[in-house]
Amino acid sequence: MRPTARSTPVAFTTDDYAARMKRAVEDAVRAGLSGLIVTPGPDLAWLTGYQPHLTERLTMLVLSPDQEPTMLVPLLERRDAEESGSASLISIVDWMDGDSPYEAARALLRHDGQFGISDSAWAMHIIGLQQILPGIGYRAITECLPMLRATKDPRELERLEAAGEAVDAAYNDVIGIRFAGRKETEVASELAGLLRLHGHEQVDFTVVGSGPNGANPHHGAGERLIEPGDTVVLDFGGLVFGYGSDTTRTVSVGESQALTRKVHAIVMQAQQAAVEAVRPGVTCEDIDRVAREVITDAGYGERFIHRTGHGIGMTTHEPPYIVKGESQPLVPGMCFSVEPGIYLPGEFGVRIEDIVTVTESGVKRLNNTSRALQIVE
Ligand code: ZN
Ligand code: ZN
Ligand code: ZN
Repeated sequence: MRPTARSTPVAFTTDDYAARMKRAVEDAVRAGLSGLIVTPGPDLAWLTGYQPHLTERLTMLVLSPDQEPTMLVPLLERRDAEESGSASLISIVDWMDGDSPYEAARALLRHDGQFGISDSAWAMHIIGLQQILPGIGYRAITECLPMLRATKDPRELERLEAAGEAVDAAYNDVIGIRFAGRKETEVASELAGLLRLHGHEQVDFTVVGSGPNGANPHHGAGERLIEPGDTVVLDFGGLVFGYGSDTTRTVSVGESQALTRKVHAIVMQAQQAAVEAVRPGVTCEDIDRVAREVITDAGYGERFIHRTGHGIGMTTHEPPYIVKGESQPLVPGMCFSVEPGIYLPGEFGVRIEDIVTVTESGVKRLNNTSRALQIVE
């Protein structure tokens, strides 16, 4: 359980942010938009390096082909904005408590057309903008520019690889701790500690789904006492250098049951087949179909109750989604989870999840712990 030593990756540069903002404008124009309104959250962090805390005070970056990048900020946060990595590229405009931020925004936006706006923009801000600028239409950025952040550059990949190594180290430690006779919450808090020990600056989730709780894919961790013979789903992750980790393994407490071994073998086969299918040009829905076919052929199609995966980057769930109907072809640099599962209500669940990245020639896994059914004590 020694902490993992890891060197800090090279910081993103002003040139990186300039290139990202330029591409965002080009993509927006191509999508028929007048521009983008970006509020605090992952899009703003990715585009500018600026990560203000979320408050009711309006902060918004405006990107459009008509003007240089412009960011409206509350006056009291102006200094913080001026210190972000991309400040030299952005003209900063402030508004003062007591004045309307939406009136200030009026000067920064065209008064017609469609703007893409951050998915996570607060409804109160969208309503405020709509009242001041009724001629503008708004579309969620993820809906109109789904692939904006989907292809990771080499320095982003370096961070995602570090996140994969850190989460793998936590798994290799957690299978050595005691499960039987302890509550799920106790195992979950030890797991959270291990994630931090191995380099996570933030722990986002530690699912410990024992026995019947494992049949709920988004069960967190509860008061249930883990018993010998239980099948336990462990799904955990967080942030390392600002980028996400997310892995799932299913373990058995003491001797495994025959049904667990059978179901686990099917899920492992489905996950392997889907990972092997990943390469440039194959579509997202193809990968979902490959995983689903293995499980359906084994007779458990109706028990695989979610999509096969989701993109990952500065957030844990983002495009590309590996799901039926998503015809986006895979491109080198994309990172996403491959996480088929089978859920038997009242009995147990099995899921196996790795993050993978698309390479020029195929695929690379960012999680590399054993996927075999691990026996824990
Ligand atoms: Zn999930
Ligand atoms: Zn997960
Ligand atoms: Zn996941």
